[in-house]
Amino acid sequence: MLHERDRIREELFDDVYATPDLSVVLPKYKFPEQEQRARDVYQLVHDELMLDGNSRQNLATFCSTWVDPEIHKLMDECVDKNMIDKDEYPQTAELEGRCVHMLADLWNSPDAANTLGCSTTGSSEAAMLGGMAMKWRWREKMKAMGKSTDKPNMICGPVQICWHKFAKYWDVELREIPMEKDRLIMSPEEVVKRCDENTIGVVPTLGVTYTCDYEPVKEVSEALDKLQADKGWDIPIHVDGASGGFLAPFCDPDLEWDFRLKRVKSINASGHKFGLSPLGVGWVVWRDREDLPDDLIFWVNYLGGNMPTFALNFSRPGGQIVAQYYNFLRLGREGYRKIQLACYDTAAYIADEIEKLGMFDIIYNGRGGIPAVSWSLKEDADPGFSCYDFSDRLRSRGWQVPAYSMPAHREDLVIMRILVRHGVSRDLGQLLITDMKRCIDYFKKNPVTTPLGPEYGGYSHGGGSHK
Ligand SMILES: *Cc1c(COP(=O)(O)O)cnc(C)c1O
Repeated sequence: MLHERDRIREELFDDVYATPDLSVVLPKYKFPEQEQRARDVYQLVHDELMLDGNSRQNLATFCSTWVDPEIHKLMDECVDKNMIDKDEYPQTAELEGRCVHMLADLWNSPDAANTLGCSTTGSSEAAMLGGMAMKWRWREKMKAMGKSTDKPNMICGPVQICWHKFAKYWDVELREIPMEKDRLIMSPEEVVKRCDENTIGVVPTLGVTYTCDYEPVKEVSEALDKLQADKGWDIPIHVDGASGGFLAPFCDPDLEWDFRLKRVKSINASGHKFGLSPLGVGWVVWRDREDLPDDLIFWVNYLGGNMPTFALNFSRPGGQIVAQYYNFLRLGREGYRKIQLACYDTAAYIADEIEKLGMFDIIYNGRGGIPAVSWSLKEDADPGFSCYDFSDRLRSRGWQVPAYSMPAHREDLVIMRILVRHGVSRDLGQLLITDMKRCIDYFKKNPVTTPLGPEYGGYSHGGGSHK
């Protein structure tokens, strides 16, 4: 009996926090020498992640922070699928292709069943591909006319950082239209002023990152038609529909921003934003087959079959694409419309409530662009705190609401912004407003002596010294 008890003792595991593994501080920046028990390390990593903000309360992000339980299941089932292995996983490849054609249809491509497009890791990669195709087409056109191809330029409003990357990586001059007073997005006049024969394309954003407004794609397109009639320059449009590409078709179907406009040659959108898929998927679709130069498509034969690839990455997870397909089937136009309209209603509600607080100017009220709200402190308001203080204080209840200054020519304007996404319910919105009131009361009783400024970087530590 006694012998038996000893044997059982030997097989007993320590409580996870009492193990030698977890009762010491583990190395952080040196490659570990020894292996550890999976259970213990799991607990350690899991615990460290507690210090991350709660993603559902992260109102800064445009990206999905809630997905159906079925998506969790599909993601788990696909954890081993590499989407580049199109010959090995032909059905995953098939689902990707179907998504491309469904999107082409959603965006009113004249030949949706036959046009080209692909999935990407997000809108950033999609923007690189769309931008590259514009540069290639422009160069072919210039070469055919015997003209110089040294100085390509691209025109946009206040764009997301990915277009700055595109311009730098691909050596294209970015002619970014600065904000001017209350004009915080591009206007057709400002676009046309900057065009010349070296303009590879114009990129309006459907859902500007800073304010969440839609840029006027149709008006810009018409101005470019007129410019072509005057000067002969045929300048294409690529729409950055990172957010709007999954909003306008459902909630604003009469808005003409897509392939209904002949000049719109390509569109990108983020599947992981209002496409409602988990992180790691974007899309780019061309209006017509001819709009994507053949020269950019690589053919690989070492996966079996002879497969076309057009992407920056090679290996990439397949689950996000499968989840996107699930969403398309699960929701259809009806389901997407319901979810997004609920978000718009909540955004409008939050905007109205913030306005009632009295000290803020609403910059974007959640109507007409992305379901979001942006606001600034009234110029004459003296509430005893800055937007940065307000952001910091909201954090004490877990809410992450960014404060930031605007880009060129309106750096003086500091705004705050929240995104109302799938999973931000009306009730959650109301709780946020209650907490905003609580913060304002707190500042009344405890006025800030040194308001936080732009140097306030929230809680992230980029880099730092790793000892
Ligand atoms: C988010 C965003 C991007 C970048 O997209 P990712 O999917 O994060 O790579 C580009 N443009 C706009 C307008 C965006 O909102």
